[in-house]
Amino acid sequence: MKKTRYIFVTGGVVSSLGKGIIAASLGKLLQARGYKVTIQKFDPYINIDPGTLNPYEHGECFVTVDGHETDLDLGHYERFLNVPTTAVNNITTGRIYQNVIDRERKGDFLGKTVQVVPHITDEIKRNIKILGASGYDFIITEIGGTVGDIESLPYIESVRQLRWELGRDCLCIHLTYVPYIAAAKEVKTKPTQHSVKTLQEYGILPNLLVLRTEKKLSEKICHKVALFCNVDQEAVIQSHDVSSIYEMPLVLAKQRMDRIVLRKMSVPVKGKLQLDSWKIFVKNMSKAKKTVRIGLVGKYVELPDAYKSINESLLQAATYHHRRLDLQLIHSERLTKENVAGYLENLHGVIVAPGFGQRGTGGKLTALNFAREHNMVTFGVCLGMQCMVIEFARNVLGLQDANSAEIDPLSKNKVIDLMEEQKHLTNLGGTMRLGEYDCKLQKGSLAQKAYNSELVRERHRHRYEFNEKYRQQFENHGMKCTGVNPQTGLVEVVEIPNLKWYLGTQYHPEYNSTVARPNPLFVSFIGAATENKN
Ligand code: GLN
Repeated sequence: MKKTRYIFVTGGVVSSLGKGIIAASLGKLLQARGYKVTIQKFDPYINIDPGTLNPYEHGECFVTVDGHETDLDLGHYERFLNVPTTAVNNITTGRIYQNVIDRERKGDFLGKTVQVVPHITDEIKRNIKILGASGYDFIITEIGGTVGDIESLPYIESVRQLRWELGRDCLCIHLTYVPYIAAAKEVKTKPTQHSVKTLQEYGILPNLLVLRTEKKLSEKICHKVALFCNVDQEAVIQSHDVSSIYEMPLVLAKQRMDRIVLRKMSVPVKGKLQLDSWKIFVKNMSKAKKTVRIGLVGKYVELPDAYKSINESLLQAATYHHRRLDLQLIHSERLTKENVAGYLENLHGVIVAPGFGQRGTGGKLTALNFAREHNMVTFGVCLGMQCMVIEFARNVLGLQDANSAEIDPLSKNKVIDLMEEQKHLTNLGGTMRLGEYDCKLQKGSLAQKAYNSELVRERHRHRYEFNEKYRQQFENHGMKCTGVNPQTGLVEVVEIPNLKWYLGTQYHPEYNSTVARPNPLFVSFIGAATENKN
């Protein structure tokens, strides 16, 4: 059997340093050397998954092909590696404890006291190694949180044990922060020294350090860090601020991070680093002069991470068309009939975001009404698509009180209704219609032409659906259901063919868009927007 090697990425000093991007970038480099790589994330919180978390807590919830609600870093892993992740790529403390407690109830530990060490740590190690059976050369494991946190201790202890068990087949990379103190005109390495010291107290000596910094660090500083932290100088890597996350693999490659990692693990450095298409993408992104201006209407626009996958899909599609993406974030709660023109009229295209609950839906409907009446290039995703349906029902079909059962359960015209299988559910966690399903596209429709295929598979995350009872009425008046699930008939795509580009999807195409393979609907949407003289 193939030998699998394990790389751990931990973080120190502060959170939000970009461990996910470092893990994804290193993964990209190893993949570019011809190795088979996957990345997983361990989150130290007690929730079973982030599905029930508000975006204010952890940003977007990413959905895997097999229908698991996961951390947004998995989106980065997929966008960089172009390989789908599954439920095993994201584990939380909640899941670890749930598994151990379930086994305790079954009697698996009969007679024994169940403890953090060894039972929780054994379960963590088992989960770290699960992907090892899938034939990967490298498994990169990102440990969420910051070293020193109480909640990440069992993970750090598991990493320590695995390093001891696996020897050279295991490597630890620690990401820290080197702040610049403007008043002193100096960068400070002390926080890094402390953080590495903490890691050493737990029995882990990192093999590589990645220093996140706003300013490029001098050789002297890197030497100092190497000396005080017991790390080879060449293994002190800088991650300075870059204008796009997609530049990071190139930044790390320049510092030979892939070679250093491989050498430290006694793995042959194979051939040439195959990064040509990645470099072309980054070059096209930075060289693009003409702009495509897209408005994103949503209620979480003030949170940079809430619509991560949509932002990245738009950027990938814009780059594909050699355009610079100018993304205007429009708070749906601020939109009114009076001000909507001011927000939308200068855009090349508008996208209405997914979401849950009533807040901000009024603004989404106002935006869609303006966009439809002004024949704007318009894309609705999930709740965005549902709002397209509601707006059309109210203003074209004349059903004044048309609504979604989620927004107004008392409406007489629930053009969007709760799915049958959802009606008897009591638990909220993991019970939506989740993951990949087939969608059959009508020949000649905008969607079918965009995909150049009549059958596609996309990912879902919803409880409500287009109400089939109204379908004929919509179609008679010009809104067509051009994509349906072939097994259940559930409406997946609506379009207004008489307009330039007006399309909504019940599914989330943004979960399925990578640098190597931008999602066709986003490519088509941006293509139409770039043709739009406005
Ligand atoms: N709230 C809607 C539903 O559950 C839409 C969900 C979404 O936008 N992801 O059907």
